[in-house]
Amino acid sequence: MKKRYLLAPGPTPVPESALLAMAQPIIHHRTPQFSEIFKETAELLKYVFQTKQDVLMLAASGTGAMEGSITNLFSPGDEVLVVNGGKFGERWGKISEAYGLKAHWLTVEWGKAIDPAVVKKALDENQNIKAVMVQASETSTCAAHPIKELAALTKDRDCLLIVDGITGVGVFDLPMDDWGIDVMVSGSQKAFMLPPGLAFVALSEKAWKFQETAKVPRFYFDFKKERKNLKDNTSAYTPAVTLIIGLRQALLMIKEEGLENTFKRHDRLARATRAAAEALGLKLLAPESPSNAATGFFVPEGVDGGKLVKYLRDEMGVTMAGGQDHLKGKIVRVAHLGYFDTFDIIVAIASIEMALSKMGHKVAFGAGVAAAQQILLEGYK
Ligand SMILES: *Cc1c(COP(=O)(O)O)cnc(C)c1O
Repeated sequence: MKKRYLLAPGPTPVPESALLAMAQPIIHHRTPQFSEIFKETAELLKYVFQTKQDVLMLAASGTGAMEGSITNLFSPGDEVLVVNGGKFGERWGKISEAYGLKAHWLTVEWGKAIDPAVVKKALDENQNIKAVMVQASETSTCAAHPIKELAALTKDRDCLLIVDGITGVGVFDLPMDDWGIDVMVSGSQKAFMLPPGLAFVALSEKAWKFQETAKVPRFYFDFKKERKNLKDNTSAYTPAVTLIIGLRQALLMIKEEGLENTFKRHDRLARATRAAAEALGLKLLAPESPSNAATGFFVPEGVDGGKLVKYLRDEMGVTMAGGQDHLKGKIVRVAHLGYFDTFDIIVAIASIEMALSKMGHKVAFGAGVAAAQQILLEGYK
């Protein structure tokens, strides 16, 4: 027997109460019973998105809401600014180009955050730019971009701030309405503690205005149609009934903890993980602007990161993530978002210490764990 631990930045572990809610017999979606659940869930989503706007629930992975944000708000030829600091930033640009938008790419070194001054300069120099697209948390590099500062730049321009908050919402503070975020996207399999399959998106009043004139063809992801249906406590097409029932449960858990405490927990787990990596002499991938969703570190010289991740998963039963593209084999990413607490971090750090030792790296056993424990203790009376 091998006990398995899922410590990757999506999918993340699902709490027992959500699993049990989803194990119940399926119900029909056009019933008062489901409408009631749908309505309550839509309200709870507003709380987590920190918005008065409707939060649409789409049956798709997170990328579906990213794609829908582009098809619903723009016309072919529209110019947009894409912050490309990793795999997901690159995705904004690829989707934009697939639909005939003119993407201006702002390339950021992997592991770094965008400098708002660079965005300001680009917006000042080109008044035609209709949107800035960015990640709150660039999961491929474990870096966080400065969303508040970017929102201040787009607020008084005829330009939208479109934020992929897929590993940001429910992890750290992203008050959509207060900061003036125009579009915020998320997905079920990250901080929402559910299996993959649901995408969420909320639009500001300003973004809904863009929607009125947008000409990119669309059908399934039709935000106007979804909003109209949401008012009637339903969705345009068959909703992912089971996932929405689970979502209600997961959102109730977040509500019960309180968003502030949720952010604090993520911050504590993230700081502990970073401290552990540093204590083990592992160089952080995003030391200056780390995301509290996941921590990435470089594997030591002479260790194959791909083999390390595989060993952790197959021999030790601990699933983490490796690197993508040019970071393949060079980094490990440990998640700490969603249904994560103190002892998930202990498992992560202890298993890394042991696996590194097995790979021939000299490890002072317990050094990382001890550094993490110091910080993790803050969570207890
Ligand atoms: C997981 C993730 C996505 C979406 O990926 P899907 O596989 O489509 O759910 C997008 N952006 C970020 C930052 C992510 O972490």
